[in-house]
Amino acid sequence: MPEGHTIHRLARDLRSTLKGARVTASSPQGRFADGAGAIDGTTLRRAEAWGKYLFCDFGTGELLHVHLGLIGKFRRRPSPPPEPTGAVRLRLEGERATWDLSGPTRCEMLTPEEQDRIVAGLGPDPLRTDADPALARHRLARTARPIGATLLDQGIIAGIGNVYRAELLFLCNIHPATESRTLTDLQFEELWARTVELLRVGVRLGRIVTTEPDDIGRPRSRMRSDDRLYVYHRDHCRRCGAELATVVLGGRPIWFCPTCQPSPHGHAPRRSGSVRAGRGRRRSGPPAY
Ligand SMILES: [Zn+2]
Repeated sequence: MPEGHTIHRLARDLRSTLKGARVTASSPQGRFADGAGAIDGTTLRRAEAWGKYLFCDFGTGELLHVHLGLIGKFRRRPSPPPEPTGAVRLRLEGERATWDLSGPTRCEMLTPEEQDRIVAGLGPDPLRTDADPALARHRLARTARPIGATLLDQGIIAGIGNVYRAELLFLCNIHPATESRTLTDLQFEELWARTVELLRVGVRLGRIVTTEPDDIGRPRSRMRSDDRLYVYHRDHCRRCGAELATVVLGGRPIWFCPTCQPSPHGHAPRRSGSVRAGRGRRRSGPPAY
């Protein structure tokens, strides 16, 4: 599933390619014919993301709302575009580019009030300049649910998905089963700061990269696909060499290092396995609390 960085990058690209010029809108598949008809011939005024939700304002009084869900894609095509391929729900043809939307979970026109209701149900989005981390802190402090589950809850922080949650908790040395309400202020501050930093890297590069260049030996822009993550879908910890474990939280498996992310209930295994010499030692081992 696309995480928040994908939608922010998409909003940015829609703005840069469509804004200011007349858009020809159609629904080649036919399922969004009315919505496309309302947009057709207008100009894009605003495109913005809130977590995984995309809102586009064409000045019609209503807003285009798109949620890509698990398999949705907004693909860029040249203008004039080739014939649509597959089931294209919405085609937005501008002077500089054409965008084909297929497979979204949601594609609808909303009133501003309906948009407000969606946004009111979302937590702060770390990629937005108006994000209020205190709200996320407050919501986490009120729940005993494991942090591995609450990070997927879009009503607490908007934009984090399955890959980022595993990588963020690893980088902050937090075990995914830790009760959200037991996080210290320091832990939350680090978690938020890392989230902002890594989501921004994701927007810039167009993919999720969480590893430090020093740990990998090459800059982020030149990393291979196997270099990009610390724990997600991996077998061994990059930092201490221990075998990684998984636990199902929030309905999906999360990978973690039992050594670098000690159990909140104690009984953390002692460091084991081979430590890769000379790399990434800063954060290896349990934190000092
Ligand atoms: Zn480790």
